Parts: sequence; structure tokens; C-alpha cells
Amino acid sequence: MAYDHADHADHHERGSELSEMQLRVRAIETVLAEKGYIDPAALDAIIEAYEIKIGPHIGARVVARAWADPAFKRALIEDATRAVRTLGAINRVGDHLIAVENTPKVHNMIVCTLCSCYPWDILGLPPVWYKSAPYRSRAVSDPRGVLADFGLQLPADTQIRVWDSTAETRFIVLPMRPAGTDGWSEDKLATLVTRDCMIGTGLPKRP
Ligand code: FE
Repeated sequence: MAYDHADHADHHERGSELSEMQLRVRAIETVLAEKGYIDPAALDAIIEAYEIKIGPHIGARVVARAWADPAFKRALIEDATRAVRTLGAINRVGDHLIAVENTPKVHNMIVCTLCSCYPWDILGLPPVWYKSAPYRSRAVSDPRGVLADFGLQLPADTQIRVWDSTAETRFIVLPMRPAGTDGWSEDKLATLVTRDCMIGTGLPKRP
């Protein structure tokens, strides 16, 4: 993927040293901890949750349930915030989640043009390319070109709808259920759901 390459080159140049931003974050963290405003143990717990416990497997479960259970799918489209809560996914206060459904005629794709807003609670940490300037601008100006970079060619008459996330409103793409999965269990269906297909830069795996 084109977006990863630039970042990798950047990373190699810097070697293992911390970036200016990382140094700044560390300095602020140290000062806040010394003044007693934050508890380093609580911060560690939050970071560990996002690195280990929370990830795209949660979103994959949401998608698989929607594929397998029409009532859940209706609830998800109607109010995704509430629907994912019934699966035990946590929501941060004030977050509003919207599920957008792919059809043969419409393909949905998610971006945050302003910064990097992302449905962390169900997809975990965002991929590096999601936060890159080229993705954020080109997703809007040339969505078909971006999808081509990801190896995704959609029929010419498929409309591409791009959703711009904000601090309050996050999106998850509900991809189309792959053919040849009749009778599959939810667990088995979930194995076909990739992170990228929930961002809209990919499709589910084929059975
Ligand atoms: Fe953002």
C-alpha cells in the first residue's frame, strides 16, 4: 500500500529513537504525573486495553452478527451505538456510532479529513495510513483511485460514498455478506471480516 511506504522510510531514518512528538508526549505525561493530575497505572491500563483487548475482532463480531441475524442488522442500521453495546462493546461517553451498509449499488468508505477520528472501540488502533495526509485528502477527491491503491476495483456503476468522521460521530462499514456462506455460524462468518472491509478500503475475504 502506497501510504505505508512513506511511513516506513520515515521510520527507518529515525531508527529506534523517539520522534519529537513522542518526546513531547512523554514530557507532558511526566509533568502531569508528577503534579498528580494523572495516574500512570490508569494510563497503562487504557493503552493496554487498546493494544491487546480491543481490536478489529470486535467489529468483525458485529458484522458477522448482522449477517446472521436480520433483527440485529436492523437494530445496527437504526442505532449502531446501542446495537454494539448489546454485544458488550464499550462506548466512550458522547461517542455516536453509525453503521453504513454496502449494497451492489453503493460502496461506503470512511475517512477523517480533519485528523484521525476512528471507531477505536470496535476496530482498535487505527492503521498508520488512515492518519496519513494522502489518504485523508484523496479519499475525498479521488476515492476510486484510493481503492485501486488498495487493490479494490469496483464496477463502474457502483457509487462510492465517503463518510467523514468527527470527534463525536464514527462510522463502521457493514460489507455485503460473501456468497457461498449459507448456513455458516457467526464465528465462522467473523473469520471473513477484515479490518479494511469495515473501513471500506477492502472487501471481506472470500470463503
Ligand atoms: Fe479526526
